[in-house]
Parts: sequence; structure tokens; C-alpha cells
Amino acid sequence: MKNFQYVRASTPESAITAVTKDGTAQFLAGGTNLVDLMKKGVAAPDKLIDITGLDIKKIEERQGTLHIGAMALNSVVAADALVKKQQPLLALALLKGASQQIRNMATVGGNMLQRTRCPYFYNTDLPCNKREPGTGCGALKGFNRMHAIFGASESCIAVHPSDMCIALVALDATVVVKGLKGERRIPFADFHRLPGDQPQLDHTLARGEMIMGLEIPANQFGSHVHYLKVRDRASYAFALISVAAAIRIDGNTIADVRLAMGGVAHKPWRLTAAEQFLKGKAATEGNFREAAKLAMSNATGYGHNNFKLKLAPNSIVEALTKAAAAS
Ligand code: SF4
Repeated sequence: MKNFQYVRASTPESAITAVTKDGTAQFLAGGTNLVDLMKKGVAAPDKLIDITGLDIKKIEERQGTLHIGAMALNSVVAADALVKKQQPLLALALLKGASQQIRNMATVGGNMLQRTRCPYFYNTDLPCNKREPGTGCGALKGFNRMHAIFGASESCIAVHPSDMCIALVALDATVVVKGLKGERRIPFADFHRLPGDQPQLDHTLARGEMIMGLEIPANQFGSHVHYLKVRDRASYAFALISVAAAIRIDGNTIADVRLAMGGVAHKPWRLTAAEQFLKGKAATEGNFREAAKLAMSNATGYGHNNFKLKLAPNSIVEALTKAAAAS
């Protein structure tokens, strides 16, 4: 690993200034992904600005909106009574991510900025447009079992690895970020990006902008939520497919529904066409299957991951069925 300078930030402003003005500096939060990337030579910052001591860890309700600080630990958020009561889908998704030890270190902001687990990205001997633009995509015609079926490009077919973010896009969260020019808010669905011809860019943050926290609006889904994660082993594995589902049934009719998938695209993938189809319909398996069919209309397999084309719609139906039945 390359030598680097380590600085502990005392205020968000000093950290933002340091990273904005020094092109080789990076924020360091829990380090559960960044330190791995540095060990493997994928990331090589000259300076790390440790932001874990900043006072942006609170979880609180303000006028019906749940606010979560960017440095709140994943394990703390998952166990928080307010989160479990107001946004149980978020707690469920967090508990499906990584392991308890990693959740004890990983922060909310770091979780959002973790990088893909595409094996070609982590192996500096292999071509990868995300790690080294212009070198090609090793996965496109290579071993692409874990890769995208939606929104990919010829440049990159990687998937976003987080579970937490799949719940957050379904819950219409907003990301609060701060830079030298002040604060701004980004709808969660616009925070991560598709690869296009710039797969090296995972998100829409400007250089030096820091994630300050999340705002999650109140909803009426109650406990009718489910986070389904299909993976190769029961713990500490990334999703082959995941589905975040929330449903509100009024009498016999679906009054509101949210659906998002993980393990399928370069960003958390919201299933808006399926949501629109389901609103006003009865909560039956037949309607769930029709919605899943709609959700899959633009899906493409790349060979080894063709199994996802069947697994994904079945997972959507299962997640909706379990959300509707949850109590
Ligand atoms: Fe790199 Fe993306 Fe291709 Fe993986 S899928 S090798 S991350 S360019």
C-alpha cells in the first residue's frame, strides 16, 4: 500500500476545504471499503481526511421527517427505535448487508459511496473502464454472473452493491450534501448514476462535497414492508437480486406501493412502471406477476447472469406477497 497522510477533521468545513483544494485527498469514514481498495492498489489517495469524529451522527424526527446523520453507524441505525418504528424497511435492508462486525464500523455516508464488487475492478491486472477508463470492460464478455440486467452500457455492466440504498430509493429519501458553496439536497434516485461512457463516476457529488445526512419522509406503509435478498450464502454476501417492497392496502385495493431492486443495475433500481400498474388494483398474485413482467421489460442478460432474468420477477412477486402479508 502507498504511504499516505492521515488528518482527523474537527469540522465539516475544514474537511470539505481539505478535499476540495487537494485533488489527492479523500474523506475517510468507516473505511470498510476504501481501505480494501487501497490495499489492492485500486485507490491510492495521498491524504485521508478522517470524518468519523464529526457531529453528524444523530437520528431524529423533525416535523414528521426522519433525519439520519451521515456518520451514524449502520448497526446503530438498524437498531434505532425511531427507525424501526417509522421506517422498518430501512432497518430490514441494513440487517441484510455485510456482517455485524462490518455494520459496527460502516457509516451511512460510506455505505452510499461504497464501490462495486465487480472482480475485474478489484484486480489491477485485468481491464476495467471503471478503475482505468479506456482499458475496456473485462466483465462484458467475461465472468459476469453478478452483473447488471438494467441500465448497463458497453463501457460497464457493474452493479451497485448496497442493500441500504435499495430501501432508501424506495422510501423517496433525500441526500443532504455540503460543499464550499453551501448545502444542497439531492433526491436519492438521482444520487447514483448509470455508467454511460463514464463508468468511473458512481454518483453525482461534486469534488469535495460531503454527505451530511439523509431525510426520509413519513409514510403509511406501517409494517407492510419486506426486504428480500437472494444471495449465494446466508450471510456476508452481496445480492444476486434484492427487492425492497412496501405496500398499503385499503380494503381490497392497493392504495400505495413502492418497489426497488438491487443487484441489477449500476444504481438502486426503482420499479416505477410496476408501482403505477399496481396502484388501485387488488393485491393478488396475478397482479403481482403482471407488475413483475412490466418491471422486466427492458432487462438484458450478458451470459452468465441470464438466470437473473427469471430470478428477478419471481423475487418481485415474493417480496410483494411477503410485504402484503407482514404484520
Ligand atoms: Fe470494470 Fe464495470 Fe467492466 Fe466491472 S463491469 S470490469 S467495473 S468496467
